This record gives sequence, structure tokens and C-alpha cells, in this order.
Amino acid sequence: MSLTTGSHDRSPPIDMEEDMAGIRFDHFQDSLELLNPLNGFAPERQRIEIYRDPLLGHTSVYNPAIEEGRKVFLNDVDRDMIARLATESAKNCVFCPERVDGVARFPDALIPGGVVKIGEAVGFPNLIGMGGHHSVAIVSRAHFLELHELSPELIANAWRALRQIAQAVRQRDPDALWLTVHGNYLFPAGASLMHPHFQMLIGSEPYTHHARLAEACYRYLQQEGRSYHRDLVEHERAEGSRYIAATGRWHWLAAFSPLGTNEIIAVHETEGDLLRMDEGELHDLAQGLSSALRCYEDLGHLSFNYTLYARRQPEVDDGFQCLLRVMTRQNPAPNYRCDDFYLQKGLQTELMLHRPETLAARARDFFTG
Ligand SMILES: [Zn+2]
Repeated sequence: MSLTTGSHDRSPPIDMEEDMAGIRFDHFQDSLELLNPLNGFAPERQRIEIYRDPLLGHTSVYNPAIEEGRKVFLNDVDRDMIARLATESAKNCVFCPERVDGVARFPDALIPGGVVKIGEAVGFPNLIGMGGHHSVAIVSRAHFLELHELSPELIANAWRALRQIAQAVRQRDPDALWLTVHGNYLFPAGASLMHPHFQMLIGSEPYTHHARLAEACYRYLQQEGRSYHRDLVEHERAEGSRYIAATGRWHWLAAFSPLGTNEIIAVHETEGDLLRMDEGELHDLAQGLSSALRCYEDLGHLSFNYTLYARRQPEVDDGFQCLLRVMTRQNPAPNYRCDDFYLQKGLQTELMLHRPETLAARARDFFTG
């Protein structure tokens, strides 16, 4: 498949391919003409490329001018500020080892002892729930970590702690069907505490994006007789430009149309129920997430979000497979420019700092090196 663009503006799709029966990779182009004051008011015509997600239809935007050095979209990390915040916030941090006994606890009937401890990880209920069985896992004893320090072991142990909570919940709550695991790293990503921690929600109903994802996967299965993500992985692996690597049975891709900057996704080959996987499969996923974070660090990022989508296995196949989305956020600095503006909030469209093919090429080194 080629992603080269034609010369039409405001045209129908200029590059549409349907390599698998139901997967269409739509790619459009628009333009902007201006007299550029940064170049003596010379005439300039910018190409704006628009990508559409084959499953859900959301669009994302790429303008080569961004990659050609217009740094307004990604400020540098303010290292002095990070060092100061890390020192100051550690003094009262309830996730640091000397104060961790003060976190909320589950009732003993659910989790004997109230918290789950595995390696450096500590799992417990969130103080203010935003969904069913809202739980937290502290990832490390360290109050602050660089992205390359978020090792597969630290990530996997935090997930093992959350998984143990999820298993206890499942035994007691038959309505605990929709499970998501999340990370907000540093304040541009929405973290209220600097200390590395993950979160988990297990609800009776899926939240908006989870529902859209599950409904679209089911619709695809009904129409095509196959699972969307299995088809996607097969296509992307054969085509190659956005496929990054496999870690065990997880396949890592640069998202064709991301929901967040530099979005990398992981798809499990078959399973949609996180609790039917063994700990080895969690470690394989952690290995990949740690690699993606090292790639982000290399690209100059420090803040990220991720979400892992899962659901309880239904009696009849619904075509859903576990999916992880990880994305970068704006770098922490005073008066930083938020990367969630009208484009995302009002149009649900993401701005791409790199083409997905460029991102995949950069990421491969961190998965295989
Ligand atoms: Zn701390």
C-alpha cells in the first residue's frame, strides 16, 4: 500500500486501499496557502494530510511543516523544574515507601490485608472512584523515574498487583465485565501525583471509547466473519511499514490514525479477557510498553498516557481482542502549551508529530535492540 498523496485538495479519498476484505486505509489531503513572514513573506503552500481510522473512523492530521522544525507543538522538558518538583513533592508523597501505609485499603473480605504487594508494586483502591472497583498500583519505590527506568519488571509487577485485585473482584461481582488499565505520567498527562502509578477500572458498562471499540469489533465480525484486529495485524505485518514487532503474542503497531500523539498500539493475537492470560503474557506486554517508552524518551518526550482495554469473555464470540494504546503528552514545563485543544476536544482529531511509518521505523530499534 502506498501513502503517497495526489494533488487534489478537498477531494474524495485520494488513496484508499482495501487489502483485507473489510479494512480500508483512507487518506485525504487539504492545503493552506500563505505568505510566510519567517521566510521574507515568500509564498508557501502547505500540504495537510488527514488519516482516517479503518475501524472507528476518527481522523488525525499530519503537516510536514511540523516535522520540519516548527517546535511550537513540542516544548522541551524543563529539567530544573522537574528536579525541583520531584524534591518538593516527595516530602509529602503518600506513594513513597515511608508513607505508603497511609493509602486506602480494600475490605479484608475482598483483599486480605487490604493491599496487594508484588515486588515494588502496591495495589489498593483509589481514594475517589471514577468507575467500578477503581484501583491504583504504585509502580516503583522511586518517587520519580525517567522513561527508560520504567522497566518491564516494574510495569509487569504493577499489572500483576492489579490483576490480583481484578481476580478477587470477578469472584464477587458478576457485573464486573469491562476492565481497563491506565497510566497518566506527570501533570501534562493528568497525573495528580508525580510518583509512578497505574490505575484500573472494572465496570458493569463500558465507557465511551471502550463501547465504540467493542461495538465496532462485533460489527466487523458479523460482516466479515473474522476478527478486525486479527485482520489488522495480518495486514500490517505483511505490509510492514507500520508494524513494529511482536513480544510473545502481542503485536505492536504505529496507529494509522492515532487518538494521541505518537500512538503505538499493542494487539493480543486472540484474547480479549485479561484474566484468561497468564503472567508471562503480562510480562510480554510490559516488555513492549517499556520499549515504547524508551522510544518516546529518544523522541524527546517525558509524559505519556496509556490505556489497556479488556472485557470478560462472553459466551458467544464478540470479536474483541485486548488492545493497548500508548501515546505521548506535552512535555512538562512552566506555562506549557496543552496538547489537548480544539482539534482533540472539539473535533476528536489528533495532531501527528510524525507519520506513523516514521514512528514505526524509530520504534523498531527499541523493540529489537
Ligand atoms: Zn513518592
